[in-house]
Amino acid sequence: MKKKIGFIGLGIMGKPMAKNLIDAGYDLIAYDLNEDAVNEMVDYGAEKASSPKNIAENSEVIITMLPNSPHVKAVVLGENGVIEGVKKGQVLIDMSSIAPLVSQEVAAELEKKGVEMLDAPVSGGQEGAEAGTVAFMVGGKEEVFEANKAILEVMGGSVTLVGSIGAGETTKLANQVIVGINIAAVAEALSLGKKAGVDPENIFNAIRGGLAGSQCLNDKAPRMIAGNYDPGFKMKLHVKDLTNAFETSRELHSYMPLTAQVMEMMQKLLNDGHTEVDHGGLGLFYEQLNNI
Ligand code: NAD
Repeated sequence: MKKKIGFIGLGIMGKPMAKNLIDAGYDLIAYDLNEDAVNEMVDYGAEKASSPKNIAENSEVIITMLPNSPHVKAVVLGENGVIEGVKKGQVLIDMSSIAPLVSQEVAAELEKKGVEMLDAPVSGGQEGAEAGTVAFMVGGKEEVFEANKAILEVMGGSVTLVGSIGAGETTKLANQVIVGINIAAVAEALSLGKKAGVDPENIFNAIRGGLAGSQCLNDKAPRMIAGNYDPGFKMKLHVKDLTNAFETSRELHSYMPLTAQVMEMMQKLLNDGHTEVDHGGLGLFYEQLNNI
């Protein structure tokens, strides 16, 4: 018998993931502040909930897919929140990309009510969410992971337990740090080439097979060369993730000088009004910096 799922957060990622669960035969009750998104899910076969508390009262496994830490805290621990409706034995899977310390804080509050939690952020974007092929990086107890893995496998192409609660979020932040710094490196290198009068297309083709080659170079260089900064993964979401990485590092008394620098560059673009650009928009930062 499939567990009944309560799904909170029906945005770009959450809505297609919730639809995949319905397609796989799960009963699903849905909640979002956005009524239109809920109504679309109802048309797709979901039940409608009136609050996160109502979701908890009417499901066995609760899934959240929300923008950031404050949203998860409000939905789970706030007024009319999940915590007011839970009963012992339930499980909350948070798929949002948030600060690991907040995952641990929320899990500790739920544990007082006998509720287990997994933090299960994803990479793979909207396309992966629609196709059911996102990569899950999961933190939590092994037995809780094993008992709920089948649910994640409906939405994901890979599902990996990486450690205890918060470890999934830490892994996601590590991913975002590598990607952010890589994009900045690609943008800086192409800007040097362009300034020196070498066709960036030729640079890209010459170096992509060598040590500088990467998925990041292959994906972002052609878009930077074309001046195409349409999203994709929005820069403002990447700044959110890097801010969480930076603050986590601060809490742990460690240092991320490269992340700090990339964040400043991204923040400058956002402050200049480029609020909807792809994270590859770092190319635009160098175009402006070096007049190219
Ligand atoms: P989104 O903004 O499209 O969706 C978030 C949804 O949460 C919205 O529908 C919003 O109405 C709802 N919401 C916000 N506060 C709420 C509340 N208090 N109660 C109920 N609903 C509330 O965001 P998204 O792109 O779906 O991203 C969700 C998470 O996944 C983020 O943490 C993001 O960083 C991560 N992520 C996104 C992508 C991507 O490509 N978009 C890729 C990987 C990971």
